Amino acid sequence: MAVFVCPRCAHRVTGAERTQGHQPRGCPACGFGFVFEMMDDYYAGPLTALICCDQERRVLVAGHAAVPVTGWPEGELIGQEVSAALALEFPDATDDPIARSLEWGVRVLQQPCTFRPHGLDAPRNAVADIFPAYDDDGGLLVALTPVTKG
Ligand SMILES: [Zn+2]
Repeated sequence: MAVFVCPRCAHRVTGAERTQGHQPRGCPACGFGFVFEMMDDYYAGPLTALICCDQERRVLVAGHAAVPVTGWPEGELIGQEVSAALALEFPDATDDPIARSLEWGVRVLQQPCTFRPHGLDAPRNAVADIFPAYDDDGGLLVALTPVTKG
């Protein structure tokens, strides 16, 4: 069953709730203007940054946990190409997982990566889950969860 996740507050809405809902497009929890469709259920952790991008990979929404995780004010991320804005790198990948997700319309889960938080010189380790959008506008959702390597 499809699940919709609010990029702003990470609230989950099931497809059934959505079709009977009073707000057919937006988030019933925080009122944000749209929710992102997932083919399978997904729970964003408290420190999972949800970043919505358009099909050119430009940031549309730096939502749930994005500011505390990345240190960037949302206004400085919007419109930026997501990999460049966060210095996202996927050292273990043989390709660009974001490009793969966009091109093939597939989810790319649990990708080890590094990103550069605002104001810090050292990159931070994280895991990225990348979800393609299923609507006509295309685009994708990047869920970035910092990890501490022990
Ligand atoms: Zn919401």
